[in-house]
Amino acid sequence: MKLDLSEIVRTPGMQVRQKIDEPFHPAEFGFDCISPITGSIEFTNTGDVLLARGKVGASVRLQCSRCVVDFVVVLTANIEEQFRLVHMGDQIMAMPLDEEDVVGGLLSNNILDVEELIRQSLLTEVPIQPLCKPDCKGLCPICGQNLSEGQCSCHQEMYNSAFQALAILLEDEEAED
Ligand SMILES: [Zn+2]
Ligand SMILES: [Zn+2]
Repeated sequence: MKLDLSEIVRTPGMQVRQKIDEPFHPAEFGFDCISPITGSIEFTNTGDVLLARGKVGASVRLQCSRCVVDFVVVLTANIEEQFRLVHMGDQIMAMPLDEEDVVGGLLSNNILDVEELIRQSLLTEVPIQPLCKPDCKGLCPICGQNLSEGQCSCHQEMYNSAFQALAILLEDEEAED
């Protein structure tokens, strides 16, 4: 979704609220978005800068880092972005503060790539090590059983050889050092 900001860019004091209800394609997003992205973004021309503030949310499919089961969470992100208002001859151009965004084409010729702005905001909300639930027990390293769903038979043996396992663990740690 591209948004033409040229009118607000040349009108100090102007404020525009843009409703967001957009389907997005996972491949472009970097994570698996399975619902439309909804929310709103408010643009304000303060005279010096153009502010973009809002809130967006979407359902996202993640993979648990412990048990590798897919699960769905609703991610919400605040949008807080500022663009410089640069006079170029008789024109005013909104420019990203971040050099990367200038190159990446987040905003050029006062056309904002709203999808990219939202993607950047949502991406910061994706957990680095997602968990299907806070107390996910993960998989048995021997048989692969999902331990949240029940114990496997190897668990008891592991428990019995706990001292052995500890010894191996310490050995591994020493090896890493
Ligand atoms: Zn899990
Ligand atoms: Zn097992």
